[in-house]
Amino acid sequence: MVRIVLCRPSHPGNIGAAARAMKTMGLSDLRLVAPERFPAKEAEWMATNAADVLEQAKLHATLHEAIHDCVAAFALSARGREWSPQVLDVRTAALRAAEIEGPIAFVFGNETAGLTNEEMFSCQYLVHIPANPEFSSLNLAQAVQVVAYELRMSVDVAIPFARVEKRATVEDLEGLYAHLEAAAVASGFMTPTSRLRERWRRLFSRVPAFEREEVNILRGLLKALMPAKHGGHEPRE
Ligand code: SAH
Repeated sequence: MVRIVLCRPSHPGNIGAAARAMKTMGLSDLRLVAPERFPAKEAEWMATNAADVLEQAKLHATLHEAIHDCVAAFALSARGREWSPQVLDVRTAALRAAEIEGPIAFVFGNETAGLTNEEMFSCQYLVHIPANPEFSSLNLAQAVQVVAYELRMSVDVAIPFARVEKRATVEDLEGLYAHLEAAAVASGFMTPTSRLRERWRRLFSRVPAFEREEVNILRGLLKALMPAKHGGHEPRE
């Protein structure tokens, strides 16, 4: 779902190296907007075993054509700009991208000139790769590598936690809070007017992606611990 868009790349070697960077991280949709020279031998040399990504790369005359069907576009820039779309660092951008359904583009600029303002403003986000302020401009293909890596991390590491269908809903959480309160009052641990209920809301609000199953485990435990007359299990004896 993520495509990598190179705007007006001037060195074909960078196109090949970008294809390779993509393939190592599991990306395959490469778009080239008005490349100076393509296809080219240097691109093939640098792509090595990512020749398939290169062969499938789509050529576009304009950036608009390359991203018009995307639900989100992230522009990469080495330079901060006075006026720009919302600025994100690359890790935050990758995490955000992982949560979006539908086609997404990461858009890179030309090796010497970067992205034009117009290209940048076709995107909703401006992404920077934190770097040495004295020398912040990475090689184009290396910038693609960093983005592809962060995307990989966001999917492999963050997505299992973020899988939407598994997430506990507000209703699930309210069920848990009510259960905790009932158990805490029934056991004499808490008086009905205690502020503890706010403390555990605060506690559970720090769980980044609470899953329904985890809520159910806690509720199962509470049920097992509660005296039978309060809706718990019969003592096992
Ligand atoms: N001299 C150009 C930079 C060209 S580097 C300029 O000042 O804009 C080629 C492309 O790699 C950039 O357009 C950008 O898309 C990406 N890139 C390089 N370094 C980056 C960084 N630190 N953060 C974000 N993108 C970067």
